[in-house]
Amino acid sequence: RPRVLSGIQPTADSFHLGNYLGAVRQWVPMQETHDAFYCVVDLHAITVPTDPADLRRRTRVAAAQLFAAGLDPERSTVFVQSHVRQHSELAWILICLTGMGEAGRMTQFKDKAAKFGESAASVGLFTYPILQAADILLYQADSVPVGADQKQHLELTRDLAQRFNHRYGELFTLPAPYIPKEVEKITDLQDPTAKMSKSSSSPAGILDLLDQPGPLRKKVMRAVTDTGSEVLFDEENKPGVSNLLRIQSALTGTPIPELVARYEGQGYGTFKKDVAEAVVETFTPIRERTEKLLADEAELDRLLAIGGRRAREVAEETMERVRDKVGFLASR
Ligand code: ATP
Ligand code: MG
Repeated sequence: RPRVLSGIQPTADSFHLGNYLGAVRQWVPMQETHDAFYCVVDLHAITVPTDPADLRRRTRVAAAQLFAAGLDPERSTVFVQSHVRQHSELAWILICLTGMGEAGRMTQFKDKAAKFGESAASVGLFTYPILQAADILLYQADSVPVGADQKQHLELTRDLAQRFNHRYGELFTLPAPYIPKEVEKITDLQDPTAKMSKSSSSPAGILDLLDQPGPLRKKVMRAVTDTGSEVLFDEENKPGVSNLLRIQSALTGTPIPELVARYEGQGYGTFKKDVAEAVVETFTPIRERTEKLLADEAELDRLLAIGGRRAREVAEETMERVRDKVGFLASR
């Protein structure tokens, strides 16, 4: 079976609709077709200042949401990145294979560092994509389901894999990104040209998986819609309405042209109400399952320990080969 790996950061108290549609929802069916590895990437989370108590809580909340969204600990390996030390170890080796200029071209760093000012950003934020390459290559992943914002990082991962293989001898599988076009970039409800994001969207711009129905409805009803009153798919002139159409289409399985025909001559009100209901219907059962899972921390930690053990086995197998190829003496 081909292997899949993906990860999500515990950088907020809830995932959002973009994380769900762009990433997590794709992960669930891939459990059936792939040997699946999914991780909560806590090492990535500390690339920006992070309170330890927040990190601990958010890591459990993230894992609970993954199980609640349909990941099955029997069928896939769900784990916490920091439980597998090999991620940090391989990242160092890949850092030594990466050019400064090459790392400097990563646009996510530029976007995220702009918030602090580049010189105040951590070196970890700069090397973030290289740690991500290590996450993927450790498991020899064939496929990596992510949103469009990760495309450039996947290209870097492939380049680093090829460079390692060329310099030290064939070892790494070249991973292919899996980015479904329709949901590759869910945008902020208040700023419909920017991506919905855990760390940069305003509360009104983001639909959190763990939000209650009331706030979810209110946020959809207040979403920025464009001038005019027709429900049309036009990314250029109607980015807000187009985003809502993409969301409703993805949540209900109805093609966009069918939705456009349905709301013809009706204005935005009815349309937004229906989008809100689709969101509430999808999120509510996931939120309820997440709350149940969080009520038993010991059980949640036990599931993560199982995933961690399985992940370490695979990761260590790769690392033994990596260390040997690089020329490190075997430790006894
Ligand atoms: P942060 O702002 O802290 O980076 P994030 O919202 O970007 O958080 P990540 O944990 O970095 O979330 O990303 C997890 C996954 O969700 C990645 O595969 C990413 O591509 C995907 N993703 C994030 N935001 C969106 C979005 N708006 N639309 C589609 N996919 C998204
Ligand atoms: Mg992100």
